[in-house]
Amino acid sequence: MYFDNAEGMVFRPPSEANSLILRVTIGCSHNACTFCGMYHDTAFRIRPEAEVTALIERAAALYPYQRRIFLADGNALILPTDRLLKIMHHLAQAFPKLARITCYGGPHDILRKTPEELAALRNAGLHIIYLGIESGDDEVLSAVNKGVTAAQMSAAGQKVIAAGIKLSGMIILGLGGKDRTNGHAINTAKIINEINPTMLGALTLMLHEGSPMRQAAENGEFYPLSPYELMLELKEMVAHINVTQPCIFRSTHISNFLPLAGTLPKDKDLLLTAIDQVLDVFRNQTSPTYNARNQY
Ligand code: SF4
Repeated sequence: MYFDNAEGMVFRPPSEANSLILRVTIGCSHNACTFCGMYHDTAFRIRPEAEVTALIERAAALYPYQRRIFLADGNALILPTDRLLKIMHHLAQAFPKLARITCYGGPHDILRKTPEELAALRNAGLHIIYLGIESGDDEVLSAVNKGVTAAQMSAAGQKVIAAGIKLSGMIILGLGGKDRTNGHAINTAKIINEINPTMLGALTLMLHEGSPMRQAAENGEFYPLSPYELMLELKEMVAHINVTQPCIFRSTHISNFLPLAGTLPKDKDLLLTAIDQVLDVFRNQTSPTYNARNQY
């Protein structure tokens, strides 16, 4: 639910469809990942306190019984913790039925916060941080200009979990193209095992119009995976994921060729079987538009 008329496009995770979107920042402070077209046309800025206060008052008048609020845009955690806490306390007063606050978190913003700051945010109602892990492979992270190493990403994810905040990680199938598919699969599984996110979403690389990655593909410098290769990569990744705490896994985004849902590690064999069934379809050269839904 979006009521603001500030500049630029608004993005939120699919699971925040029923949340009020409160843009405490505009755009993304990094804004340099080669695959991302989200905020290319939007200059990053932190919204002044008075602007956010007025927004909260307006939202509370419009939606007084709102239970969920998502702090946008791309990395709301860049705000100093005392500023975030002030906003969250205002939200708690303005929305008496408020049950959860969520936001995207950039790895560097998370690493900058102390365990005590993260605990204070949790106590103030920060329920989920969405972290774009994208890949656990250093070559892939560097190639897509993510601005972070796998070790830093892993440390950031683990810090969120250690603070008692739920972590929803996102990874991108096909991000390493044909050249790095194996390293991407295995090293991404490795980082997932280290972090053990509460939720894990697998998206498939989409080459957005105007993005440097699309340009690289058009120039013959990046070779995207075929649907069959994407399935092989997903199989390799899932096969190497060995989390010890329950992790809700979803690959149900519109970009995905095969929608899958389950809880790891419990449903690992079922997920692998579902992927194998699709691979068999490919091998038997039957319908290339196979679209079975597999939910466990
Ligand atoms: S993927 Fe995330 S960090 Fe990278 S430019 Fe897009 S919004 Fe910013």
